[in-house]
Amino acid sequence: MDSYDVLIVGGGPAGSSCAWALRHSGLRVAILDKQVFPRDKICGGWITPAVLSNLEIDAADYARHHVLQPITGFRVGAIGGAALDIQYRDPVSYGIRRCEFDNYLLRRSGAQLLLGSALTSLQRVPEGLEGWAANEGIRARVIVGAGGHFCPVARFLGGKESSPVVAQEVEFQLDACHCRVQGNTPELYFCSDMKGYGWCFRKGDVLNIGLGRADPLHLPAHVADFLNFLKSAGRICFDVPPLRGHAYLLHGTSTRSVAGDGYLLAGDAAGLASLQSGEGILPAVDSGLLAAKSILARDFSAYPAALAPPPQSLIMRMGQALQPPLAGFVARNLLKTRWFVRDVVINEWFLHLCDHSRCLPNGGNR
Ligand SMILES: Cc1cc2nc3c(=O)[nH]c(=O)nc-3n(C[C@H](O)[C@H](O)[C@H](O)COP(=O)(O)OP(=O)(O)OC[C@H]3O[C@@H](n4cnc5c(N)ncnc54)[C@H](O)[C@@H]3O)c2cc1C
Repeated sequence: MDSYDVLIVGGGPAGSSCAWALRHSGLRVAILDKQVFPRDKICGGWITPAVLSNLEIDAADYARHHVLQPITGFRVGAIGGAALDIQYRDPVSYGIRRCEFDNYLLRRSGAQLLLGSALTSLQRVPEGLEGWAANEGIRARVIVGAGGHFCPVARFLGGKESSPVVAQEVEFQLDACHCRVQGNTPELYFCSDMKGYGWCFRKGDVLNIGLGRADPLHLPAHVADFLNFLKSAGRICFDVPPLRGHAYLLHGTSTRSVAGDGYLLAGDAAGLASLQSGEGILPAVDSGLLAAKSILARDFSAYPAALAPPPQSLIMRMGQALQPPLAGFVARNLLKTRWFVRDVVINEWFLHLCDHSRCLPNGGNR
């Protein structure tokens, strides 16, 4: 029997961040992941600066051996329509490759790594004893479920499933292909019903293309429309390799219990991705760090409240009050308006920025 104080199931950003925050605690911490790292993860690889600062990662140092694409602008529009360019003085986001980033986080986490073995069984140890027995050979006082959307710990604990965001993505080497997408300016194009958006995101010689929707119906048709649009708009002029799909829950849509007697869920396992942008890496990191804090305090009671969804802005509440066809019409017209795209879509929904003075005047005129 291998015995740990904390067993973290899943070595993605949520699990690694939790372990990293526990590295000096004196606790015996292990991360169990079914994959061997480096491994890839279906993801755009866009991160906001708080991911680096909250994990105390020095951007220049990380960039010495890994892809770290600074982002100083966004090109935003509707699929089939025109687009607006929004530019900033300094980097407001970065592009990373998940195969590199997750491996980097995992290796510096300081945890005992149990890689290449899935969680196959989990049970509470008999009454009178504290903790969990996993895979019949592992004992742990606390278990952290950080196994992503299909986290086996979350499944073991139960909870009604809610509708996830469904998304498809592909990341590939550009080689000699001509592509008008600039590394420092990812492109975002919203679906005509505003239930999702596609992205085209260049990181050096690598291009990441994908589309996510809050409505699971007809995802492949929306993806096909988007790829045709990118070609007809001249953004790409080659066939894109097949996309791969995945799902995850937006913040506030999950009914999973995120903390209880001897357990905590973090990241996608807890369903924490941003309602507006789908950003999931920062919530995964932050919830991992918070989970560690709760473990150190030996008190999980404040954890669920700390993960409560942020209040919605007035404009979002107004959007929800409108019925679908009207909402789509209003939103498509708003997407042609520079102040809406800059202040609401990018600054508020994607970057959580309140300081609009960081925008360049030529890209930010109302
Ligand atoms: C197409 C797509 C694009 C996205 N783009 C972005 C983006 O650009 N920016 C952004 O911020 N977010 C993005 N997201 C969301 C983001 O990828 C997730 O929110 C984030 O990866 C969550 O991290 P996590 O650590 O919770 O889970 P994960 O990164 O999914 O890690 C979970 C880990 O658990 C392991 N695991 C699973 N089952 C088991 C098991 N049975 N036993 C042991 N281990 C197991 C897996 O191998 C994996 O390593 C995107 C999501 C999708 C689907």
